[in-house]
Amino acid sequence: MPFAEATPLRAIFSWPGGKFALAGRATQLLDWQNHHRFCGQCGTPTVKKVGELSMQCPGCGLLAYPRISPAVMVLVRDGDKLLLARSPHFKPGVFSALAGFVEPGETLEECAVREVREEVGIAIANLRYFHSQPWPFPNSLMVAFFADYAGGAITPDPNEIEAADWFSPDSLPLLPEPISISRRLIDAALCLHPQ
Ligand SMILES: [Zn+2]
Repeated sequence: MPFAEATPLRAIFSWPGGKFALAGRATQLLDWQNHHRFCGQCGTPTVKKVGELSMQCPGCGLLAYPRISPAVMVLVRDGDKLLLARSPHFKPGVFSALAGFVEPGETLEECAVREVREEVGIAIANLRYFHSQPWPFPNSLMVAFFADYAGGAITPDPNEIEAADWFSPDSLPLLPEPISISRRLIDAALCLHPQ
């Protein structure tokens, strides 16, 4: 029996006790070090800076910090109906809330409005923060919101959305794993776990 063996990060997603968060942090830091072995400005090999989490270039002084890419998740509600969608890379049959990466110069709120408009063609209002969750695939921070439907007909972006529809609480499709923030967001909307 080997002393240790590599386990894919996704395989420990549901492990209890914060192990996934710890492994996710370690994976992101190792990836960051591997991807910043040379200065992006002058090409000199970098060194770890003492006293803070950064790689520094001894040639030009450029500092590189671990990259975190914020992404916004939005669960749109219209009365008791939830807008759920599926991307082609989801497991078969699973639907979830909409999500997308924040672009440079954009607020979280602006990102939420844009992503929903781009992915399904509808307008939203009354954005409310829910929770956030580090998502180390490879370096995201998922920030989740509720929003209310404010107009338009569902028109899925064929490049990102395979299917999208309104679902009643009594006719839900397959949902993401319970530990994921998307599932917690959906459960909260269904009042299964009041916040
Ligand atoms: Zn440099």
